[in-house]
Amino acid sequence: MARYTGPLCRLCRREGEKLFLKGTRCYTEKCGIERRKYAPGQHGQGRGKLSDYGIQLREKQKVRRIYGIMERQFRLYFERASRMKGVTGEILLQLLERRLDASVYRMGFAANRREARQLVNHGHFKVNGRSVDIPSFLLKPGDVVEVRETSKECSTITESLAIAEHRGLPAWIEFEAKAVKGTFVRIPSRDEIQLPVQEQLIVELYSK
Ligand code: SF4
Repeated sequence: MARYTGPLCRLCRREGEKLFLKGTRCYTEKCGIERRKYAPGQHGQGRGKLSDYGIQLREKQKVRRIYGIMERQFRLYFERASRMKGVTGEILLQLLERRLDASVYRMGFAANRREARQLVNHGHFKVNGRSVDIPSFLLKPGDVVEVRETSKECSTITESLAIAEHRGLPAWIEFEAKAVKGTFVRIPSRDEIQLPVQEQLIVELYSK
């Protein structure tokens, strides 16, 4: 699966806000957006007012970037969400939060979602006792994610867990520190996801 491999701070600067793509650096004064509060590129400092389409497009790009999803796959999530019963924008975010890499990040095994995806790809995790190395694997309520025995000493994971203690856990995740495993307890509500996005704009964009 293709993925963006360029500079992460550039993505935040393009969206004009912190997307917290890096981890601890995002909370320091070294944060790229703290140092350069304008969009990247030659015309970054002279950006005019956005059209309605431009606003919708930026909102969609922002969510894609937060979760590290390429356009084609993101569109598939949207189509899946629109076929499901309920509010499409909310279901879209719920689908993204159900991804294994999103939960690996939320549980604190990784400093950011990109790292979480890489750790999953490298086969460090089990879901309900079985190895899963697909970042887009969708978790169901009650699914248990744990680090494989051979990966328990992986420094990326142990360091992330130590730092993640300060980040706290979202309401839909339970974590057993001793057993180094987490449970995706339930599908989160929109309020719980707490992302600064207006998902309705994405629905409007794709509904044109
Ligand atoms: Fe975004 Fe983090 Fe870079 Fe700041 S440090 S611009 S929040 S990725």
